[in-house]
Amino acid sequence: MKLLVTGGAGFIGSAVVRLAIARGHEVVNLDALTYAACLESVASVGSAIGYTFVQADICDRTALDTVFSMHKPDAVMHLAAESHVDRSIDGPGDFIETNITGTYNMLEAARKYWTDQDKPEGFRFHHISTDEVFGSLPSDPKVMFTEDTAYDPRSPYSASKAGSDHLVRAWQETYGLPVVLTNCSNNYGPFHFPEKLIPVIILNALASKPLPIYGDGSNIRDWLYVEDHADALLLVVQKGKIGRSYNIGGENERTNLELVKTLCGILDQKRPKPNGSYADQITFVTDRPGHDARYAIDPTRIRDELGWRPSVAVEEGLEKTVEWYLANEPWWRALQDRKGVGERLGKSV
Ligand code: NAD
Repeated sequence: MKLLVTGGAGFIGSAVVRLAIARGHEVVNLDALTYAACLESVASVGSAIGYTFVQADICDRTALDTVFSMHKPDAVMHLAAESHVDRSIDGPGDFIETNITGTYNMLEAARKYWTDQDKPEGFRFHHISTDEVFGSLPSDPKVMFTEDTAYDPRSPYSASKAGSDHLVRAWQETYGLPVVLTNCSNNYGPFHFPEKLIPVIILNALASKPLPIYGDGSNIRDWLYVEDHADALLLVVQKGKIGRSYNIGGENERTNLELVKTLCGILDQKRPKPNGSYADQITFVTDRPGHDARYAIDPTRIRDELGWRPSVAVEEGLEKTVEWYLANEPWWRALQDRKGVGERLGKSV
């Protein structure tokens, strides 16, 4: 397929681009190159036949129309977004602009292109979203997010993603645009921008800095290895049913404190400190306002309908991730100078 991937210089988008090229697809990677982007993350496919990069903003409708008419994609995988909850607390404007208005522009540009092409049957607009749109769960392990869970977003980030999900569904109902949606749990793995929990913990540990845990560390997340997510996304864009949404999870629920202690144990083995454990650096800090208690995905639909399950358990994935950060210092060092990285963001109420 010829895939138009938005946000392909970001964490998950770059994993999608690398995997899609490895599987023989053509990829047009459209990205505005915001603070969160890193073209080094797709350097391994930069000169591959079938790979094209276009620097464009999804809020620029004219640029989008040009990309669609020039490249004529078979499907769109829309990942471009502002993605960091803490930044959405300090400055929600960019999240509304990119995640809602940008998605609206993508839908309109896709609709025009699809209509101009006489509505090809195989065309798909795949919108990539988050489980955070469903809000926060109680600790009862039997209660999980299904595709029918009511939307209840709590942060500016998740509210903006919820808004974009609603637009995507409306474009299908109203204009017949063939869409599919996915709502995924927390990703981790190689090329993760050093403002997110797992890279922050690894890099602070190595720099002998405190390992910040929000609140008491009891918040629960379901962790999915990013390459598993990319695999699921490529399956959904090809086999997903039009108008349907699929939850994607890692089947790996952990409290933040458990996760950080596991990371410390891996680091103790792979890069031992002269004295003591990295866990000695754990420091509890002021909680994030409105910090959701628990996210958990019921993976039944994607498993039963598309036959997909994650392949990487969290301990194995964390080990691979730590090894990757130890081996790729030039990649993360270059990003540590970017605005806000290494600072505590999102404390304001
Ligand atoms: P990211 O922040 O690492 O990357 C986002 C990319 O989008 C960047 O390369 C950035 O330059 C680009 N971008 C931002 N604004 C743009 C604009 N206006 N025009 C064009 N490009 C723009 O994000 P990520 O973690 O890779 O997440 C990708 C998608 O997956 C997002 O839609 C996010 O909501 C969703 N998601 C993420 C997670 C997660 O754990 N990271 C989980 C579920 C869903």
